Formats: sequence, C-alpha cells, structure tokens
Amino acid sequence: MVTTAVPILAFEGVGKTFRLPYVKGQAGVHQALQGLDLQVYPGQTLAIVGESGSGKSTALRIALGLEKPDVGRVWFAGQDLTQLDWRGFRPLRQRMQLVQQNPFAALDPRFTIFDSVVEPLVSFGLLKGRALEHAARELMDRVHLPTAYLDRLPRELSGGQRQRVAIARALALRPDLLLLDEPVSALDVSVQAQILDLLEELQRELGVAYVLVSHDLAVVASVAHQVLVLRQGQTVEHGTAEQVLRAPAADYTRELLQAVPGRGVAA
Ligand code: ADP
Ligand code: MG
Repeated sequence: MVTTAVPILAFEGVGKTFRLPYVKGQAGVHQALQGLDLQVYPGQTLAIVGESGSGKSTALRIALGLEKPDVGRVWFAGQDLTQLDWRGFRPLRQRMQLVQQNPFAALDPRFTIFDSVVEPLVSFGLLKGRALEHAARELMDRVHLPTAYLDRLPRELSGGQRQRVAIARALALRPDLLLLDEPVSALDVSVQAQILDLLEELQRELGVAYVLVSHDLAVVASVAHQVLVLRQGQTVEHGTAEQVLRAPAADYTRELLQAVPGRGVAA
C-alpha cells in the first residue's frame, strides 16, 4: 500500500474580501485572497513569499481563526475549521501558534521573560509552581538562551534574543504547527541566519511544521520544503522549493530570484 502523508493544515479554494471605507459615496471591496490552495505536511515547512499587501498575513489569520474566509475550506488536523464554533476550535488552537515579525510588540515590556515564556501554559491552566519553572527552563534550553534570562525584562535582551523568547513561548504548548509571520524581517542579516538555523534545529528535534511567511525569497529558500508565491492575493507559483528555485514557472518568481544576491537566473 502506498502511504500518503496527511497535511496538518490545508486550504481549499480560500477567498477573502475586505470591505473598504466608503469613497465618494461608493463602497469598495478589496480581494485580499483568491482561490488559495495549500498543504502543510507534518514536520515540514511551507514558505509563503510575496511583497507587502499580497495577502500573506491574511492567510495566517484565517488559519488561526482570526478571520473567516468568504469561500473555501480550511482543514487542520483533519477538521474543517470553517465549520467549528469557538468551543470546537479552542483545543485545535493550542496546536498551532503564531510568531510575529516584531518580537518587541509580541512581548509585554512589563513582564519578565519567565512570565512571557510560560504565559500559554498558565492561560490554558496546564502547569503551576515547580513544574512551571521546570518547563520555563526547558524552553530556554530549547532556544539556547541562558536560564538566568528568565528574570530579565524584554528591553534587556537583543532583538534576536527576544525572537528566541517568542519562539520558546510559541513552543510551550508543544504545537504541531508554527505560523511564522516575517519572523526575521526585523533582525540584522547575521542574526536572521541564526534564527533560521534555530528553526531548522527545532523542526528536526520536535517534528513541528512551519508556515514561514516572508517578503524575501532569499530568507526562506534555504529552509523551505515547499514554496508558494503570492501576488495580490493570487498564487503565481507553487511547488517544491527545488522546483521553484531551479525552474520557476512565473516571471514574477524569476524577478524575486534575481533580487537574491548571487542567485541570478539566466533569462
Ligand atoms: P501581507 O501580509 O502580504 O503584507 P496582508 O494579508 O496584511 O498582506 O494584506 C493583504 C491586503 O488586504 C492588503 O491590501 C491589506 O491592506 C488588506 N487588508 C488586510 N486586512 C484588512 C482589513 N482588516 N480590512 C481591510 N483591508 C485589509
Ligand atoms: Mg503581513
């Protein structure tokens, strides 16, 4: 028998339109996503690449249940999220976690690193006392930060260290899927590489799947299994990372690749 992997997350024909403010007495609409199909497999990375406004964050917000698609289906762990109410969605919501672009905004400046890292465990009422402290230390080890940092405040850490804290917190509930929205865009290039290395290591060790959103094909090319290129809400390219990098089908992808240093594609 041939076994085929079942996606942890799948979109089928997902569309999303936003209503725009009335202009000159007319209601406008903006099609943020159109006919989006995607599959994310357990333990693998789907990169979604596109310039600002192409609909990347909207796709992540739909996966998290923060936006409802107008059309289409969203499957997570075999359940159609578009058919679930809040009560049905909550246990699944624990299994996917968001990491945002800006680790400053993601961490409350008044809370210690300990408070931030354990926050999901506390809010889901899973651990307390000694067990919580143990979990915090383990999470710091996972992201290669000294446990002494647990007593510090976010402003005492560098951008890269703060992003490690955000990743540690996202891992606290042992999710199957991390939604990474431009996770390294706010960081220096050298630090970007370190965070991407960490993400790859965590994927190897924990088997967690990623949707890695970026406007920069160079950033994601090396770590993705699949690449999906979005332009104005439409998919212009979708394939294995190797296919997309070696033989891009769309002119637009070729333009993105040409913008990558040292990766010019012959015309
Ligand atoms: P990206 O993350 O790729 O930069 P977004 O998904 O944030 O793109 O946005 C896609 C498009 O949808 C943009 O034109 C944006 O202005 C629009 N948009 C996103 N959210 C809303 C909203 N809540 N209301 C109106 N327009 C929105
Ligand atoms: Mg965005």
